[in-house]
Amino acid sequence: QSASLYIKDHIRTVPDWPQAGIQFRDITPLLQDPTVFRTLIDVFLARYADAKLDSVAGLDARGFILGSVIAYELNVGFIPIRKKGKLPFTTVSEEYELEYGSATVELHTDACKPGDRVLLIDDLIATGGTMMAGKKLLERLGATIIEAAVIVDLPELGGSRLIESTGLPLFKVCDFA
Ligand code: 5GP
Repeated sequence: QSASLYIKDHIRTVPDWPQAGIQFRDITPLLQDPTVFRTLIDVFLARYADAKLDSVAGLDARGFILGSVIAYELNVGFIPIRKKGKLPFTTVSEEYELEYGSATVELHTDACKPGDRVLLIDDLIATGGTMMAGKKLLERLGATIIEAAVIVDLPELGGSRLIESTGLPLFKVCDFA
């Protein structure tokens, strides 16, 4: 069995959460099992070991779980991209549309320097709004994003296509089509 299928097997689908009609892909069973969690992290480490990263930027909040472990193992810094109002220092911010309303993510202005090689990571990409906002924030600081990475892609929601259409490669461990 491939690592990707083994990992996918440990993602739980919760119907009608957080609202009717949504099939939520829950990664907590994967995190809870040390062998699966290690398999997942090792997939990312193998992929980025020679990427000459300066830092890993994780999206609030499940991107923090993955990103910080990867950054630690690759001996590079970790950058949190947070939901509005959480970061104490000066920030840049990006607002993006949700199905109902909007959301804002923020980044500290000293989180990285122009030309820094950054990996942008989250647990899942759906419409791509969150990932696009993170990309824009890092680019506003002049970072070079080497790749966007997720555990799960939901291709029918179009986010992976949207990201790739900008020229930024997207790496996904598995998808739910
Ligand atoms: P997007 O902005 O691409 O529409 O949604 C992706 C963001 O929402 C990610 O930050 C992700 O954590 C969260 N998200 C949306 N749907 C799901 C889901 O089914 N499972 C998980 N784990 N996260 C989701």
